[in-house]
Amino acid sequence: MIENSLDAGSTSIQILVKDGGLKLLQIQDNGHGIEKDDLPLVCERFATSKLKQYEDLESIATYGFRGEALASISYVAHVTLTTKTAASPCAWRASYSDGKMVPPKPGSSADPKPCAGNNGTQIMVEDLFYNVVTRRKALKSPADEYNRILDVVQRYAIHNSSVSFSCKKQGSNTADVHTLVSSTTLDNIRTVFGAAIAKELLSLAHTDDNLKFNLSGYISNANFNTKKMTFLLFINRRYDDLFPLAAELHIHSVFVSSDRSVDSSNLKRAIEGIYTTYLPKGTHPFVYMSLGLAPHNVDVNVHPTKQEVHFLNEDKVIGSVCAAIQNCLASANQSRTFYTQT
Ligand code: ADP
Ligand code: MG
Repeated sequence: MIENSLDAGSTSIQILVKDGGLKLLQIQDNGHGIEKDDLPLVCERFATSKLKQYEDLESIATYGFRGEALASISYVAHVTLTTKTAASPCAWRASYSDGKMVPPKPGSSADPKPCAGNNGTQIMVEDLFYNVVTRRKALKSPADEYNRILDVVQRYAIHNSSVSFSCKKQGSNTADVHTLVSSTTLDNIRTVFGAAIAKELLSLAHTDDNLKFNLSGYISNANFNTKKMTFLLFINRRYDDLFPLAAELHIHSVFVSSDRSVDSSNLKRAIEGIYTTYLPKGTHPFVYMSLGLAPHNVDVNVHPTKQEVHFLNEDKVIGSVCAAIQNCLASANQSRTFYTQT
């Protein structure tokens, strides 16, 4: 849902949570909204407004284009959508179940209802997994689930510093994440992780012409260490979105400019390895990294969890990333020694 809001060009995304998202997960954005005529379609499987023709696949710059997210959610929760485009004089509200628009109350009409509202879209997801007891039981406690939501919001907030994010529990006056439209990546790292980390960060930038990738980010220096590594990794390729269509259409690689938060345990392990020479035993660094991979560097293999990624020439790319980190740490260390001597 956050990615949908970003796709809609939002500059403000506000998230409200009740009972760890089990009772309520609500996202309000100020994006371009949804046309009233499209409302019957948005929760239908494979309905997407983001792909108009085959050629779009080569240049698509949005997160989504499979049209499955809202459909899936409507099968396992009660979904209510309120949306307004700039051209519409009022907002429209519709409720959904099992992919279709349904009456909000038994006996009423399923048609969208006019109502007051700001430009943008609000999606209310209530009673998650009300009809799938086993899935609901597999979830952790509301407090744990809320922390997982916060973790996701924080990652997107740091990576999308020109968008304002907030996340809070229903009934609470203070947001647990709150970033501003005008902030920088570094500001948001400070907001989320604290000034103690932010002041020990080195800016990292690297381009590898042979392997055709670039990277940028912030990594902690030798003054900072923590018990558990914070690793925020974004890659400009959506494996879960791209794989089915790419395979179906016999396209081997599609380049997407939007980034998403992913994991790579190989990369993480390699980075930890570098830091062992800089940090006390048993302590770890903070790393935020955005990787831009060229199409031919990208493998279409999908990990079952769809979170963990692998890329082509992975060993070489990881080697090159590690060399960049090594350089960055070494030169910072040198200037520090130099500084103490003078
Ligand atoms: P996809 O993102 O793959 O197109 P989704 O199921 O996530 O599919 O969303 C279906 C459609 O609903 C989108 O293509 C878009 O037209 C519309 N939509 C969903 N969320 C928003 C939003 N926050 N703002 C504007 N349009 C939205
Ligand atoms: Mg989507």
